[in-house]
This record gives sequence, structure tokens and C-alpha cells, in this order.
Amino acid sequence: MQTALADFIRHTPQGIEADAILRSCVHCGFCNATCPTYQLLGDELDGPRGRIYLIKEMLEGRAVSRRTLTHLDRCLSCRNCETTCPSGVQYGRLVDIGRELIEPRVERPWFERLQRWALRKTIPYPARFTPWLRLGRLVRPLLPGSLKRSIPAFQTAAAWPRPRHARRMLVLQGCVQPVMAPNINLVTARVLDRLGISLIAAENAGCCGALHHHTSDPTGALDFARRNIDAWWPAIEAGAEAIVMTASGCGVHVKEYGHLLQRDSAYAGKARRVSELARDISEVLTKENLSVLKPASAGTKLAFHAPCTLQHGQKLTGVVEKILRDTGFTLTPVPDAHLCCGSAGTYSLLQPALARRLRENKIQSLQSGGPDLMVTANIGCLAHLQSGSRQPLRHWIEVMDGAAGR
Ligand code: SF4
Ligand code: SF4
Repeated sequence: MQTALADFIRHTPQGIEADAILRSCVHCGFCNATCPTYQLLGDELDGPRGRIYLIKEMLEGRAVSRRTLTHLDRCLSCRNCETTCPSGVQYGRLVDIGRELIEPRVERPWFERLQRWALRKTIPYPARFTPWLRLGRLVRPLLPGSLKRSIPAFQTAAAWPRPRHARRMLVLQGCVQPVMAPNINLVTARVLDRLGISLIAAENAGCCGALHHHTSDPTGALDFARRNIDAWWPAIEAGAEAIVMTASGCGVHVKEYGHLLQRDSAYAGKARRVSELARDISEVLTKENLSVLKPASAGTKLAFHAPCTLQHGQKLTGVVEKILRDTGFTLTPVPDAHLCCGSAGTYSLLQPALARRLRENKIQSLQSGGPDLMVTANIGCLAHLQSGSRQPLRHWIEVMDGAAGR
């Protein structure tokens, strides 16, 4: 694709990166075929090729409007289009740049500004999010069906295994997950303990920064990244083998720290190292001898929902499925497994109508093979799908837990 970037952006790092991405697009439109919003809305501007054009026009100095912002807002950042694109167009980076540039140029209505501000000020902070969750649990019986199902039941926090192994790995505790489902990382610690690895959490680490990144606050996102790097660094220097992620949405973002902080002279090297060490829990397990695990619920029929951040973002297609099969589970078929469930970080809150349609489609396809249980790999997908399903959902690592006392 020919480009003629405007003077305001042409020689900036963002402009140079965006220009290279735009030039790699040959405008073939193959990507539209797998774009969930194009499938739902049928509008060229709600597909990747149309959005690429909108961003190109903005970078070439044409006026942007509320309409441009709406089409970019409707994008899930699922990166399904990247997986489909034969030319390797890095759409995810391009849409991030487009969003950063449009935000100060088109004013949002006050309600949208308030909503985004409230999300940024609440969700990444467990101390602020916990009281809201407690209140939700209190009034749960009075709430309508889907809202009721979106509030998870209280999980009692059992003891974390004592760090007794020479092999050590850090874990990203994150923000929402330890409040909503502390069992996920606890089971991860138990599973790794049986494999001879101690999982340790760094005290001052927290939110990965993805929420700020995707609600147009890149500065806030980088602050979270630096805080995590500082918190993890002593354990990395002491020989921690990896930083384990049990939420694929956080994992894909931490793997980007090296890129996002490449021009920060104080953090660039450390950020690169952190990204090299970041591993989804499935990447860790796949290198270990899993025959010792013997999951207590082996034999169960599972439907696995592969989050976009796992399959399109981290390119880990089929890895979890293989682990589950190798450890004795049966997987039921999931049609259109490449499509997003509509959770997409804060998308389900900011674009509820589209998110609901995607959720309904996803639950239908997950249930089509008659599974005993639906499992996934990201807390956001889990909570979103659970709000639309009477059948329980779990993180897949939870079914890997051994029998009590094993
Ligand atoms: S992003 Fe890829 S698939 Fe889509 S129009 Fe461009 S080259 Fe074709
Ligand atoms: S990231 Fe997802 S929603 Fe956005 S254009 Fe690509 S396929 Fe469509």
C-alpha cells in the first residue's frame, strides 16, 4: 500500500512503525473473512481493511471524526485478522497507534469519559475492586440472571505450597484474578510444586497495565509495567526461570514490555529480559513430565475456549488442548474456535451489545459437543462467558489439580 504520511508524524517512532505496517498491507481483504465485527455488522469500516484505511487517512493528515473513533472503538483487538493475513500485517500495533493518536483529537461524550476513567481507577487496584465485589455478592440474590452469574462465588484461600524447590518461577498475580478467582494461581502453584518447581509471587507486583493500554492511557500502562519490573527484578537476578502468566490477556501484554519500553533508557534492557521470561502456564507445562500429575478429574469431557490473547496474540494454538488430552481429558469439538467471545478486556463493558452477541455465539459453539465442563485460559473470558451460561466455567489449570492428599 502506498503511503504519504503527514509531517506531524512522518519522522516520529510511531510514524515510522505505522508506515512500515501500512506498506505491508496489500489491501486483499482476506482478513475481513475472520473479523468478528465485520461478520456481525457487515460494514467495510468495521473490518480490519477498513480500519487500516481509516488509520492511514488519519496519519496522512485527513480530518478525523466521531465516526472514525466509533469504528476503532468497535474493534476487539482480538488480532484474528493478524492470524489470517497472508502478508504478516501487524494490525494490533497499528490499531494501538491509531487509538493513541485519535484520542486527543475527538472528544468523547462525558459519560464515556467517566466510564473509562472509573474503569481505570477501579479494576487494576484490588483494594478498590474488592469492596465492589463484596457489595455485588451481598445483593446477588436480587440481581437479574446474567448480572447475577457475572459475580463469582467466594473462594476460600487455601495454603500456598511452601517454596521448597531449587527451581523457582515468578507468577504474575495481576489485579482482578486474585480477587475474583484466587484458586487459579493457587492450583498453578500446587501443580508446579508437584513438578518440582516453586512458584513465588513478588510483593509489589500488580496489574500488568493492559487495561490502561487499551483505554488510551499509555502513560499509566507504562507506569504499571515499570512497577512490575522493579518488583520482579530481585527474583530474576536470583535465578527465577520464568514469569508465569495464568491470564492470557496479561501474558500477551507482559510479552510486549520490551517493545513498549524500548526507548526508556532506564528500563529498556530489563523490560526486554522480562518479556523473554514471560510464559503462559501452558508453555511451562508443555516442557515438563506431566505423567506425575494424574488430575483428579481426568476423563471429564471438556470444551476449551481458546482466548484470542492466547491463540492470536501469543500464537499458542493447540498447546492447552494437547496438555489436556495428554493428561487424560476428552475434548469436545468447538466450531469457529478462532472467533472472539466478546470479553476483550473492557470491551464487554464498553460495547455491551456486540459483546453479548459474540458471547451467545461462543457459548452455543462451546456447548454444541455436550461437554461436562467448559474451560478457558483467561479470567476476562471466564467471567464474561459465565455471565451468559448456567453451566459452570473454570480455568483449565484448575482441572489439572490432583486428588486431595496426593
Ligand atoms: S491486513 Fe492482510 S489480509 Fe487484510 S487487507 Fe491487508 S494484506 Fe490483506
Ligand atoms: S482485531 Fe479483531 S475485531 Fe479488530 S479488526 Fe482485527 S479481527 Fe476485527
